[in-house]
Amino acid sequence: MTINKADSQIKVTNNLMLINQKIEAALKGVNRQKGDVELIAVSKVQPVEKIEAALVNGHRLFGENRVQEAALKWPALKIKYPDAKLHLIGPLQTNKVKDAIMLFDVIETLDRLKLAEEIKKQSFKKGSDIPCYVQVNTGEEQQKAGILPAEAEEFVKHCQDTLNLNIEGLMCIPPVNEEPALHFSLLGEIAGRLNLPILSMGMSDDFETAIAFGATHVRIGSSIFGERASI
Ligand SMILES: *Cc1c(COP(=O)(O)O)cnc(C)c1O
Repeated sequence: MTINKADSQIKVTNNLMLINQKIEAALKGVNRQKGDVELIAVSKVQPVEKIEAALVNGHRLFGENRVQEAALKWPALKIKYPDAKLHLIGPLQTNKVKDAIMLFDVIETLDRLKLAEEIKKQSFKKGSDIPCYVQVNTGEEQQKAGILPAEAEEFVKHCQDTLNLNIEGLMCIPPVNEEPALHFSLLGEIAGRLNLPILSMGMSDDFETAIAFGATHVRIGSSIFGERASI
């Protein structure tokens, strides 16, 4: 192993420890219990050595945003670490659903009816239901994926009652230049109305705020693995 590689692995180890401490402190600060938040280490565009550094440390929950990229990196890692879990946190095309449900343990980006129908169809063929979170476009941004807040309730109910999908929670990505707290609070309110227990919200820059607003899953990439090479 080159010095450089070892060095980047030590960084991942330290960063993971630091983030876990910060999560714990944020939970404590709002009187939530230790362990109430799960850390999703977002490993998109990161080299396998860094992912393995996290795995060697005992970390088991990861997020990837592209099916094709995950298909290159994860089958080998899952053989070595069979209890590793992988969440899809990026947009999913309907023609990739079949691959996605083989590779991923949770789809966090259910954002339209056609996709819901395809997940149902492919899950039925596979014989098992994959847990899904519905992505809500809390900022109502034109370019961003997600169900509009006003339509979230009807969409979730349709997925549950008509398609019989396993909807476990909601996820959001707040607009870049807005106060994230408003978006986290809105997502929490919608989930509360729908009785959904999981809230995937908060990234490297705003996870502490998300925890204050009830996040159960935070998705953190660059603060663990370092800056991503641009794609
Ligand atoms: C990349 C990504 C993250 C992680 O972002 P960081 O700022 O690197 O922590 C979280 N959620 C989604 C949906 C992402 O695409």
